[in-house]
Amino acid sequence: MKYFILVPDGGADWQIPELGGKTPFEAAKMENIQMLAKIGEVGNVQTIPEGVDPGSDAANLAILGYDPKTYLTGRAPLEAAAMGIPMRTGETAFRASLVTLEGDRAYPDRTVKDHSAGDIGDEDAKAAITLIDRELGSETLRFYPGVSYRCLLIATKLDTGEKITPPHDILGRRVGDYLPESPEIRRIMERSAEVLKNSGTAANALWIWGQGKKPALPKLAERYGVTGSMVAAVNLLKGIGRCAGLDCPNVPGATGTLHTDYRAKAESAISAFRTGAELVFLHVEAPDECSHAGDLAGKLESLEKIDREVFLPVYGYLKQSGEPYRILILPDHRTPAALRTHTSEPVPFLLYDSEKTPAPRGDRAFTEAYGALGEPVPSGEALAARLFA
Ligand SMILES: [Zn+2]
Repeated sequence: MKYFILVPDGGADWQIPELGGKTPFEAAKMENIQMLAKIGEVGNVQTIPEGVDPGSDAANLAILGYDPKTYLTGRAPLEAAAMGIPMRTGETAFRASLVTLEGDRAYPDRTVKDHSAGDIGDEDAKAAITLIDRELGSETLRFYPGVSYRCLLIATKLDTGEKITPPHDILGRRVGDYLPESPEIRRIMERSAEVLKNSGTAANALWIWGQGKKPALPKLAERYGVTGSMVAAVNLLKGIGRCAGLDCPNVPGATGTLHTDYRAKAESAISAFRTGAELVFLHVEAPDECSHAGDLAGKLESLEKIDREVFLPVYGYLKQSGEPYRILILPDHRTPAALRTHTSEPVPFLLYDSEKTPAPRGDRAFTEAYGALGEPVPSGEALAARLFA
């Protein structure tokens, strides 16, 4: 049996007046996926458990059958896993974001100007974090470069249960009003501003947040007896894939934006199936990015490209492979373009089993409205149990 999970991140939405009251799933020309819906099963699933933030970390763990309440330990340790950064038991990973603070007053009186240090380039970011590691690093504090401003700190003996405010939530606000309670972390943040004062880049401080311990996910091979690949551009998903025991191939041209190479992702999935993968989890970030930017036209374009350039070739491959297969298509969470952020509402899913097709229905569609007709599947875990049954 082959399993193909396709996730258009943040694809689900609300009815939008500019689209004549339709949702992007209803308005986009996704004729191939909608054709599969007629011969498959469509429902709703509650990927985000009550009381959990509707982040892509929680939602994608849920899709793979891991209850976020048990297994989500934070975003930073998943990013560390994606980058192959070693973490020992007991260590904590923090996001060490390179940021730009404004003003030359005392540190607490400066304001947060840019959470990405002007989308700092990888080379500059590496130079800045190397400088930090040289000045502030030690046996128990290790700083690592990541993608752009997303650097990491791995620490021993730096335990804090507090939730530190992410820098993108306090743009224009005074630093001193949002500093963490932990004096050690405050010291690192304040010292980083001294070290980076003359770094020659837009980064003039670190913001430490998003911490967590190494996640202990049982491998999918143990849970469901499947092995395979995670095809994704963003580190968060690669980290989830690694922790779940999946291969994470690098896809040239996969950028996590609207202009990602959709066909290259499909080819990567097909090549994984050809070389023995039972499962391919293919994640496309673009619909979510467009929703955050309020770019409705971009959201529709990304969904149409996912239909034609990702779904169609992989479906074509599976059909002619001669093996039975199951396809699960669902967004991880909703990102209403009007809201420009995630919500915890249930999302529609489309499940197709090549050996078990329900009676076709002309009106069945992969949409929020059709998904809502039945009782929602209560959790990602419950849906994964059905997919892998
Ligand atoms: Zn997401």
